[in-house]
Amino acid sequence: MTDFRFDYGPRVLSGAGRSTSVPDLVPEGPVLVVTDTGVRGLGLADPMLAALADRAVVFDAVEPDPSAATALAAVAAGREAGVTSVVGFGGGSPMDVAKVVAYLLGSGDDLDAIYGVDQAKGARLPLVLIPTTAGTGSEATPIAILTVGGAEKKGIVARPLYADWAILDAALTFGLPRGVTAATGIDAMVHAIEAFTTKRLKNPLSDALAKEALRLLGANIRRACDDPADPGARGAMLLGSHLAGVAFANAPVAGVHALAYPLGGHFHVLHGLSNALMLPHVLGHNMAAALPLYADLAPILDSSLASLGRQAQAQGLVEALAAIAADCGVPSRLRDVGVKAADLDMLASEAMKQQRLLINNPCEIGLADARRLYAAAL
Ligand SMILES: [Zn+2]
Repeated sequence: MTDFRFDYGPRVLSGAGRSTSVPDLVPEGPVLVVTDTGVRGLGLADPMLAALADRAVVFDAVEPDPSAATALAAVAAGREAGVTSVVGFGGGSPMDVAKVVAYLLGSGDDLDAIYGVDQAKGARLPLVLIPTTAGTGSEATPIAILTVGGAEKKGIVARPLYADWAILDAALTFGLPRGVTAATGIDAMVHAIEAFTTKRLKNPLSDALAKEALRLLGANIRRACDDPADPGARGAMLLGSHLAGVAFANAPVAGVHALAYPLGGHFHVLHGLSNALMLPHVLGHNMAAALPLYADLAPILDSSLASLGRQAQAQGLVEALAAIAADCGVPSRLRDVGVKAADLDMLASEAMKQQRLLINNPCEIGLADARRLYAAAL
């Protein structure tokens, strides 16, 4: 067995209604709750806020593709209230901001000094993350993505960004609209696939988690879309998303995410949808190197592929994923989300800024490759 390192991530508390357990998991004193107005408006945080009573200090101004300025505003709110812990409550955006805020409040570091990998080395405030989508897996990872200067996505990846606790409360996801359920579910499947096929840091533990994540997600995504309040399907999706998150926290994502980020930054396409749009094209590009690994994954999504040859299995994986996207009503073309042929050069050059992710891709993606893949997706 090859050498590897692995981090299991935060402790996990799982169960419908468990978001009300936050007071048991944080120290005394005011708690900064980082969320967004959409989640707040749906009342999803109300049971937790009632449990925290007058200890809750709510910052609900997190936007999609959150900016560095938003993170700094949350830090200011937390500092003014003298908070002793931070809760991130929502999709990937509030959880990512909460990680950064807990770190900046606890360490006193400057935000500009911690972009990149392992630049954050200080101590953060106690941190609990509660996902309301399944999902980004952000509750499982030491990664935060902020938008800087209007459109560029910059990552902060460092061990102190792992939360103390992740609460998996499937009841929070019952009300997710079909389009969000589908796009975030496909994002989670991409996390599992990219972790399993990553060129760097692939290891047996992340492989096992990625496979189980793909099994849970693939078997339940249609049911979660068609019957949103099915507790079994929702619980499986949330667990699958979390396991995929633990997998890619250790075995990082790659080309699909690298090409998806410019769509979020420049066209505000939701992260999950961005990934779904680029997925079949990047998998096709990667076939030269990743075919055996795609073949390994294929029967997990579709057991009828088990008896086929390796090439047919790998192609079957791509087709099974496309069928899931189609059945769940996910758009399949970049033109469906407002991208035009004139944008392809810009997107390709923006994707080249994601070297943090591109270095993990099974096959090299250069500028010309990226442009060709965007053109194929148009
Ligand atoms: Zn993702």
